[in-house]
Amino acid sequence: RPDSVTTRNPATGETLDTYRRLTDDETDAALDRAAEAFEAHRQTPFAVRAEAMRRAADLLDEGAEVHGALMTREMGKPLDQAVAEARKCAWVCRYYAEHAEGFLQDEPRETDATRSFVAYEPLGPVLAVMPWNFPYWQTLRFAAPTIMAGGVGLLKHADNVLGCAEAMVDVFRQAGFDDGVFQWLNLDHEATARVIADDRVRAVTLTGSSRAGRSVGSQAGQALKPSLLELGGSDAFVVLADADLDRAVEVGVAARTQNNGQSCIAAKRFILEAPIADEYTARFVERMEALTVGDPTDPDTDLGPLAREDLRAGVHDQVERAAAEGARVLCGGTVPDGPGAYYPPTVLGGVGEGTVAFEEEIFGPVASLTVAQDQDDAVRLANATRFGLGGSVWTRSRERGERVARRIRSGAVFVNEMTKSHPNLPFGGVGDSGYGRELGRPGIRAFVNEKTVWVE
Ligand code: NDP
Repeated sequence: RPDSVTTRNPATGETLDTYRRLTDDETDAALDRAAEAFEAHRQTPFAVRAEAMRRAADLLDEGAEVHGALMTREMGKPLDQAVAEARKCAWVCRYYAEHAEGFLQDEPRETDATRSFVAYEPLGPVLAVMPWNFPYWQTLRFAAPTIMAGGVGLLKHADNVLGCAEAMVDVFRQAGFDDGVFQWLNLDHEATARVIADDRVRAVTLTGSSRAGRSVGSQAGQALKPSLLELGGSDAFVVLADADLDRAVEVGVAARTQNNGQSCIAAKRFILEAPIADEYTARFVERMEALTVGDPTDPDTDLGPLAREDLRAGVHDQVERAAAEGARVLCGGTVPDGPGAYYPPTVLGGVGEGTVAFEEEIFGPVASLTVAQDQDDAVRLANATRFGLGGSVWTRSRERGERVARRIRSGAVFVNEMTKSHPNLPFGGVGDSGYGRELGRPGIRAFVNEKTVWVE
């Protein structure tokens, strides 16, 4: 097995840094450190944790440009989006600094006991297997609640964003947390499996593909440990005939191409009600073609490269298979010459049920368009997927939007807005999009022992 990992800038192909894998002894020492830190950290008052967590937030805010540049260098997202991600992480740290104590307060319950209540106690070290697409946000939205609850975090990050992992560890240390409260472990999949099985680790959370979820989730199950899986999506962006088309086009393009098209909650399947389908398609294609693709550090860039060459090859293969199955390539669809893992904004028209572009998650700037006969057909098509993470519905009637939203099987549905995460709203999926909820109150209760206490 290779004993190091080299990261590359996907915009240029140049190598960045090399990181040595941990030896088994080093991993063992890190797990000891986590277990020891947990015993001390769980006993600290909320106010002490909150003070350090607010310092972490300040560090993320003050260093947003530096953290943003690091994300862009390692995975290619446009720099302004990367800086915004660092600031959003500061927000989630502050959110849990403020609310953790209230979310975890003892809850008295009426019974025939003199006193009975529910107490929320941290479980112990939690292993997080995290992806490269939002290398800070996905990590911090697990780490902030876990640490505020009195737990400690162990991060196995994606191999292409190890500099981000290192930088986040620095943030927590500089904020004043003990070294063992948040550590990153440079591990391959096999070594990760051993950590999942290790008694010192009490729970596992993963954000990534359904394939990774199946593997890590089953290892956690084998070890009888709770797991939370936030997996992919191929959710619907439903445009009904009475929608405000200007906004539905503008937001649709942004929702499909944010983060270079690599977001689990990106709009992926556009379901267009027949009367507006042609007009929406024409306007959408025009806007997609007008996007500026290029250097992610240039402020005029809309779309940078995909995060790795192999990921681009995978996206292009999906587009070619979709075309072979009868989808019309309305724009894009070709791999450009030159360095960098760039892929053009691509629109596939006439995408039918049962085809690649309808059934699979396409993790790049590729939109799949399908025409629905009417509202019921749109709902049926929206639900004809294994995934269910975050859809959206577009209509001028809020009341109709809410009715349709309730009928869509998904972890979230947004009416006249693109799907996005907010610290105060639970986030997670159904079906192949995973299970468990992050953020909000459920996000901090995910890995605590909900303990009943009865006093006779
Ligand atoms: P993966 O889902 O495979 O990777 C996500 C994380 O899981 C990484 O840290 C990865 O580590 C780790 N991982 C994967 N399999 C295992 C395993 N068996 N044991 C331990 N850790 C594991 O993403 P890829 O980078 O391979 O991307 C493939 C596709 O996944 C994308 O094209 C996209 O469709 C989807 N994806 C979806 C995301 C989402 O937010 N919905 C996020 C990322 C990817 P390592 O880097 O070492 O392989």
